[in-house]
Amino acid sequence: MGPIVSMEDISLRYHSISGETLAVSHLDLSVESGEFISVVGPSGCGKSTILSMLAGLLPPSAGDLKINGHIGYMLQKDHLLHWRNIRNNALLGLEIQKKLTPENIEYVDFLLDQYGLSEFKDHYPWQLSGGMRQRVALIRTLAVKPDILLLDEPFSALDYQTRLSVSDEIGLIIRREQKTAILVTHDISEAISLADRVIVLTKRPATVKTIFPILLSVENYTPMKAREAPEFKDYFNAIWKELDVHV
Ligand code: ADP
Ligand code: MG
Repeated sequence: MGPIVSMEDISLRYHSISGETLAVSHLDLSVESGEFISVVGPSGCGKSTILSMLAGLLPPSAGDLKINGHIGYMLQKDHLLHWRNIRNNALLGLEIQKKLTPENIEYVDFLLDQYGLSEFKDHYPWQLSGGMRQRVALIRTLAVKPDILLLDEPFSALDYQTRLSVSDEIGLIIRREQKTAILVTHDISEAISLADRVIVLTKRPATVKTIFPILLSVENYTPMKAREAPEFKDYFNAIWKELDVHV
C-alpha cells in the first residue's frame, strides 16, 4: 500500500506584497500508517507551513505530495466554542461535515466516556481545566475519524505540569485509536517521549536535517515512562545538538 503520507522534493514559496518567502525547500518525508512522527525545528523554519500543506490548505509550489487518508488537524488553541457545552463542542466537527449520524454520535459519547469527560458533557469550556479542554479538542478531531492527525504545538499553551500529563494522555489516546500522527513541537522531551521518529528540520527554508528513530529499552512504555529510559538523555542531547539553537 505504501506510506500514508509521502512528500517528495516539496517546496513552498509565500508571495506577499513585501516580497517572496521560501518557507520549505526540497523536503522529503514519508510516514507509514500508524507511525507517530515528531517534528522539531527552529522557530519560523516552516513547520506550520508543512502541516498546512498536509492539511490541503496550501498547495506546494513544487514537488509531489501524496496522502492516503483523511486528515484531522489539532492546533495550539483548543478553539472550543464558549456557548456550546462539552458534548456539543465535541460534536461540532461532525455537525460541520453533516455527519451527525447515530453511529457517529455514539462514537463521540464513547470517546467522552473513555477519556474521562462523561461527567462534564453538560459543562461549558470555561468550567474545564486547560488539559481537559485539549482532550475535548482531540475528541472533536477524532470524531470525524481521521486516519492522520496533524498536531501543531497542541500543548504549548499549557503550564509545565499540565503539559506533561496532557501530552501523556493524548499520546496514549492517539496510540489506542491507532492513528497516524504528525506532531510539531518545540519541546524536545515531548518529541522523544511520544514518537517513533523525530524529524529535525533546518532553519528556514525547512528541509529535513536529521531523522532520529526512537528506540527505548523500557517495556510497554507510556510517554511519561519513556522519559525514564536510559537512552532518553542521549536522544535529547543529540537532537539538541542538531537543532543548533545558538546559531
Ligand atoms: P514555524 O511554524 O516553523 O514557526 P511557519 O511555517 O509558520 O514557521 O513560517 C515559516 C516562514 O514563513 C516564516 O518566516 C513566516 O514568517 C513565513 N510565513 C508564514 N505564513 C506566511 C504567509 N501567509 N505569508 C508570508 N509569509 C509567511
Ligand atoms: Mg508554527
